[in-house]
Amino acid sequence: MRFCRFEVDGRARYGRIEDDRIRVLEAPPFEGLRETNQSVALAEVRLLAPVQPPNVFAIGANYQSHIDESQATRPERPLIFIKATTAVIGPEAPIVLPRVAPDEVDYEGELAIVIGRRARHVAPEDALDVVFGYTCANDVSARDCQKRLDGQWARAKSFDSFCPLGPWIETDLSPAALTIRTRLNGSMMQDGTTAHMIFDCRFLISYLSDAFTLLPGTLILTGTPDGVGMARTPPVFLRAGDRVEVTVEGIGTLRNPVVSE
Ligand code: MG
Repeated sequence: MRFCRFEVDGRARYGRIEDDRIRVLEAPPFEGLRETNQSVALAEVRLLAPVQPPNVFAIGANYQSHIDESQATRPERPLIFIKATTAVIGPEAPIVLPRVAPDEVDYEGELAIVIGRRARHVAPEDALDVVFGYTCANDVSARDCQKRLDGQWARAKSFDSFCPLGPWIETDLSPAALTIRTRLNGSMMQDGTTAHMIFDCRFLISYLSDAFTLLPGTLILTGTPDGVGMARTPPVFLRAGDRVEVTVEGIGTLRNPVVSE
């Protein structure tokens, strides 16, 4: 099933998508599926980020091809960082180049896990049982802050608008071998598969749950394949007027324009 969040009459609602319509829900779907008898046309609403996560965890250096292009070291265990929840935006909402760091903003197309129920110390073999579904994410990153200016990643990964999500959550999906593609102004920049993750979704959920309580709606960005802008010759960074598209097989395409602050 597909679930979205959308705005109708100035109010944010959750819904279940059936063909070209949205069945309105009473509450977030991971709190129990309670449908109203109201429905709206998908084309007539503005989609929002499909979840308002209590936490956003992200994994760095989880594809060997991206480690190679970044001249990074293969991690022995998952490299975890946290993105601010205030960075989350929905489909078609603009990625804003921050006034204080506008020059080296980069895209990272990723598969994102949405947790469905509270979890702590989950074994890898049980880890997919706590998943609600999957969506597309763009782990937008200010490379100058990440590499030279800050010495750690908090600001680089968490400026407002640096976590586009959507367009919806797909619940009927195996995450093991999905194509991930990122296009910039229509040109293919990343073309990878989740089969190449160093630490797979089961392992990541289990590993995170040994440190943190995973609450319903928690988001886990699982890392990006090769093809990011900073690794290109010459580097390609986002500019006002650009359009970025992240497509994950079986989910859909997350599209966002780029603007200056
Ligand atoms: Mg990333």
